[in-house]
Amino acid sequence: MHVEESVAPPRQTRIWDIPPQRDFALAVHGGAGGRILELSQEKQAAFEAGLARAYEAGRSVLAAGGSALDAVCAAVVELENDHLFNAGRGAALTAEGSVELDAAVMDGAGAAGAVAASRHAKNPVLLARSVMERGQHLFLVSPSEGLVTEWGHQAVAQAYFITEARQRQLARIQNARLVAPRHGTVGAVARDAGGGVAAATSTGGMAGQNCGRVGDSPIIGAGTYARGGVVAVSCTGEGEAFIRGVVSHDIAARMRYLGLALPEAVTTTIADELTAKNASGGLVSVDADGRVVVAHNSPTMFAAFEDHDGLVTLT
Ligand code: ASP
Repeated sequence: MHVEESVAPPRQTRIWDIPPQRDFALAVHGGAGGRILELSQEKQAAFEAGLARAYEAGRSVLAAGGSALDAVCAAVVELENDHLFNAGRGAALTAEGSVELDAAVMDGAGAAGAVAASRHAKNPVLLARSVMERGQHLFLVSPSEGLVTEWGHQAVAQAYFITEARQRQLARIQNARLVAPRHGTVGAVARDAGGGVAAATSTGGMAGQNCGRVGDSPIIGAGTYARGGVVAVSCTGEGEAFIRGVVSHDIAARMRYLGLALPEAVTTTIADELTAKNASGGLVSVDADGRVVVAHNSPTMFAAFEDHDGLVTLT
């Protein structure tokens, strides 16, 4: 059994709107995709377990009074280390069979950091955070192995990232000469007990993408965005459409300029910038009060969040 995402046109938006549960809030995602064929119960349980572990990693930070930024990084690291998800180990492969990873973090205070075409850092999201915290730059492309280790991060060989499942996926794509490639991505948003918000996103991009292609995930305002007092958003889907629609910033702008509540901002942005343009994807978001909105117009989306009954995982 394997997971196979077929490219499918966008559908009606599905939305989960969760009122604030406590003084912190968190949502994680493991990618929006097409129809999933042959998802065995065993495999589905493994995806659910991975999402639950990532959620717990972030939640325990927030429950201990930690920051939204620490929480989203903890959740994303967990998913980067899980070979089932398209980020870090097990990320989608480029057309040449290599791994090029993109990641970004942003907090509500306006600090942001991103990396693209990262090939050495075991956890690109932590490297993106270092870019942010060092403050000299915001966005690094193809960071060297030397820089990764100099900044205190673990560097690994390409072989660490590449799994047989992804090699089989690439072969299927190339044999079928699919024009529209398969995708995935991981991300998290949080609101901490102090009212701070943050977002983080990490991805291997589209399976079979050209080397050097960068999607929306590391582009601030496209796939990742946070604004204090307003919202934090992490996206997944057809990156080019999210870049053209500046989707995560568009949601924040609708809230700020039109005074929309988060669910209305999310649904109108998805309708105008994705569905109307025949693009599919999804996102997790949290507003300044801790209201969580998860939405997608793709056939599926992997996500985890909490409602009044406890943990909800979407697979
Ligand atoms: N948005 C990612 C990209 O375009 C892929 C995905 O989320 O599925 O690189």
